[in-house]
Amino acid sequence: MYSPSESRRPFFLTASLVAAALLSAALWLADLSYSPKAVPYQRPVRVSSGGVRGTLDAVLKAEGLDNSARHRISTLLRGKLDPRRLRPQDTYTVAFSTWGKMLSLSITKDLKQYFISPAAGGALQLAVLPVGTSSASKLASGVIKTSLWEAMSAEGVPPAVILDYADIFSWSVDFLTEVRGGDRWVLAWTQDSDPSGRLVSQRITAARYEGAETGRNTAAWHAGNYYDEKGDSLRSMFLRAPLHYRRISSYFSNRRYHPVLKYFRPHHGIDYAAPKGTPVSAVADGTVTFAGWKGGNGNLVVLRHAAGYETTYGHLSRYARGIKKGRRVGQGDVIAYVGSTGLSSGPHLDFRIKLNGKPLNFIKIKYRSASGVSGNAKAAVQAAIKNLP
Ligand SMILES: [Zn+2]
Repeated sequence: MYSPSESRRPFFLTASLVAAALLSAALWLADLSYSPKAVPYQRPVRVSSGGVRGTLDAVLKAEGLDNSARHRISTLLRGKLDPRRLRPQDTYTVAFSTWGKMLSLSITKDLKQYFISPAAGGALQLAVLPVGTSSASKLASGVIKTSLWEAMSAEGVPPAVILDYADIFSWSVDFLTEVRGGDRWVLAWTQDSDPSGRLVSQRITAARYEGAETGRNTAAWHAGNYYDEKGDSLRSMFLRAPLHYRRISSYFSNRRYHPVLKYFRPHHGIDYAAPKGTPVSAVADGTVTFAGWKGGNGNLVVLRHAAGYETTYGHLSRYARGIKKGRRVGQGDVIAYVGSTGLSSGPHLDFRIKLNGKPLNFIKIKYRSASGVSGNAKAAVQAAIKNLP
């Protein structure tokens, strides 16, 4: 990246060398026996940089800027950059002349560089410049031994990318209960970094999961959404499971616990064995029609969805904040937590679904949204999936 503070250095070094040469020449003319060692040592321009820890004012004070300079800088930044919103990940670089005069100050935040330098007449001027990013393509693949998290972490996939991967397939694969040893996964993603190497964003471009329980699942990004190799959207009315991978991973992350859960089908629903307190998510957008105690179900939540569907979540330990009759919930929202209330022999979620009052086999439901891509977009999606190793 072009950095104006750098460009000052050669000028100053040149100026210093010229001054030193002139001075030694003058001294040499005055006294031929004069030792050149007596020429004053010219310190190069001093450049100091780091993260903004504490207030900007304190940082600049520690760098030796006086009250007047700091006041002029804060005046200049007013309305452009709020110094109170600077964080240690935001960086600054300040350059001083040989005599300790500030030559430039640059602050980088949110891919913008705020560059302050002297203008004519001793004033300061501010320029706001965009910071370029560089993009790198990443690829990882592997075979499951125990869990998706373990397998992907071992191949160096960052946690945020693992969660994105689980999200992309969250309508078709339950990575908590349907993962089996020997399943194969592969994903390609891009990482955008700023010039200091700090990660700005990352996005999965193509992915595949082939499992004994899950079958073949593919995905490629196009214009903000993911599509499979047929060009169909991966989104659908129902999440694959009411225990949502991302919700559970963030809930347990500080305990470094990524559960491998099990499900059972002892009745017209599904029992998910999970630790007490595991977050329970709504499988679809809907409205709470019941949240309370109901006999053997213990604490129960009932949601009504579009097109005559209803889902129930039983044996809960407690409800999420604000969950009560009439409340609207979004797909994936946490509505309650796993417990063992009512007739239950241990912590589990009793999950059931009905269509117009009749029980359905949730595992067998194939409800895909009709949206998809065609033409060139479909060809691009198919090529991205085909290019995966
Ligand atoms: Zn049950």
